Parts: sequence; structure tokens; C-alpha cells
Amino acid sequence: QKVKKEFVTSKSLTGKPVKIVHAVDSVDLTIYEGETIGVVGESGCGKSTLGRCILQLIKPTAGHVLYRGEDITKLNKEQMRQMRRKMQLIFQDPYASLNPRMTVLELIMAPLEAFGIGTMEERVQRVKEIMELVGMPENMMNRYPHEFSGGQRQRIVIARALVLNPEFVVCDEPVSALDVSVRAQVLNLIQELKKKKHLTYMFISHDLSVVKYISDRIAVMYLGRIVEIAEKNELYNNPQHPYTKALLSAIPIPDVDNKMKREILTGDVPSPLNPPSGCYFHTRCKYATERCKTECPALHDVGNGHMVACHLN
Ligand code: SF4
Ligand code: MG
Repeated sequence: QKVKKEFVTSKSLTGKPVKIVHAVDSVDLTIYEGETIGVVGESGCGKSTLGRCILQLIKPTAGHVLYRGEDITKLNKEQMRQMRRKMQLIFQDPYASLNPRMTVLELIMAPLEAFGIGTMEERVQRVKEIMELVGMPENMMNRYPHEFSGGQRQRIVIARALVLNPEFVVCDEPVSALDVSVRAQVLNLIQELKKKKHLTYMFISHDLSVVKYISDRIAVMYLGRIVEIAEKNELYNNPQHPYTKALLSAIPIPDVDNKMKREILTGDVPSPLNPPSGCYFHTRCKYATERCKTECPALHDVGNGHMVACHLN
């Protein structure tokens, strides 16, 4: 399934932007150093595509991605390969992303080999350290992925992503495939590693309670566009976009006093390949006016960095 993947960037004047993504429809996303930005939305809304575009694993069809001010869409293959040491992806599905014929040692060591880092001895040492960091005993080094539980496989995936000491990590649904009982452990590990390794995260999930737990700020996506961005508590307590309101009210969040009236989203989700005109949400929005059918609302600041793309705001 293809989602529009056009990103343009602009430079932010405030803070320390690690990278800025600005979609064609004037959607800005600045990610600040040391933060965790959560990205939520229904499946197919373009969350994963956004993450992969930032990492240049998918080439945006237009626009730019700035990383510390550098336009990484302009890098050649080798330059991008070097850049990839700093930017890693933790995959969605640990079952699919680990080669079953490689041992844990080989799997985690592979990125070091690819970049020609260290001697064999140093690489093994590095693998031992990173295994300890993710809570795996080093005597598991010579075993194969199928010998492990889902939670441990996810730890292997995390170790492999961190072995190069990246600065920025896109976590794409890293706990969605896991049993509920181990989710919290892995989430806590991800959180802990962020502090220890001074990481910046983009955390993609369809699960609002997971995103709420892990994020500093949250971006809400609908059909490939970001419709709202706000600091976590602000977003949950004071959602502005009709889609965000519906999303939050439709899903029970145990630790939130859900004062909002349950709003049922009606109408089918339009195809991202052929999105509606104007505001993409107008076919399902109960506040839609004529203007909404023709004019796309720009993402704009409604105060304290709370950004909303809706004509009502
Ligand atoms: Fe609804 Fe119009 Fe706002 Fe879109 S711009 S969310 S259709 S009110
Ligand atoms: Mg996805």
C-alpha cells in the first residue's frame, strides 16, 4: 500500500532540531534532541512511511529531510550509508526481521562488520556489552532466534539497532507483536536505553496508551498528513482536532479519566491513494463546512507549540 510520501523541510529557529519534516501540505515536524516524539494514527495512515522517509529507507517523492541542518535527501549512497550509523530503525516484527540462520552474536555483530568497525575481538566484546545493556546474558550469544521468546527477540532487535551507537532511533510498533505481559518490560527497557545512550526517538504506534506512556510530544496522523502535534498531556487533556478527539474518545485508556463523550467515527476511511479534497477528514467530520471540502487547513500553532490543522482552530 502506497501512502503519499512527500516531505519538505524548513529550518526551525528555536530549540535544537535534530530533523524537520514538512510535508507538501505544509505539515511541519521538528524533532528535538533527546525527546521521544510519538506518532499515532490508524493503520495505513502513513506512520511507518513517515518513519522510513526520515531514515531515507523510502525515498520521499518530493521534499527534504534535514538532519542537524543537513539535507540528507541530497546525500549519495555512501554518504547516506555513513549517516545510517546515526539513524536506526527498530522493526515492528522481531519474527520477520531476524535471520533464523544467524546466531545472536552474528545478528548483533552484523552492523559492526558492515561498517568495518573494530577487530573481531573488539566486535565480540561490543556485542557482549550491548547484550548486557538490553538484559540478555552473554551465554545466549551462540543461540539462534527461534530459541527465544518474543520479548527476548525484541531485545536482540534493539541490541542490533543500538550496537552502532546511533543518535536517533525510529521505533516502529516495537511492542505490538509482544504478549501484554512482556510489553511493559520492553517499553521500560526502551525508555531506560534512551537515557543511558542519550537517544532521540520517534515512537510509532497505533496504541494510544503505549504512546502516552512513552512520549514527550505526540503527532497524530490521518491519511498521510499530520493533523495535530502537542505535548503529551496537552494532547490528551486538550485535543483540538476533531479526528484526535474521536480517536481519543473511542479508545478506552485505563489511566485517564475519560471525560470526553464517546464519539464514534462514522464513514469509511478513504483510500490514501485517492484522498478527499480539501481537509482529508471532511468526509467523516461532523463539523465539516463547505470550506473544508475545498481548502486544506494548514498546520498552525494555537499556543505553546500545540499545532492543529483544522479550519475551526
Ligand atoms: Fe473537520 Fe473542517 Fe476541521 Fe477538517 S477542517 S477537521 S473537516 S472542521
Ligand atoms: Mg505500520
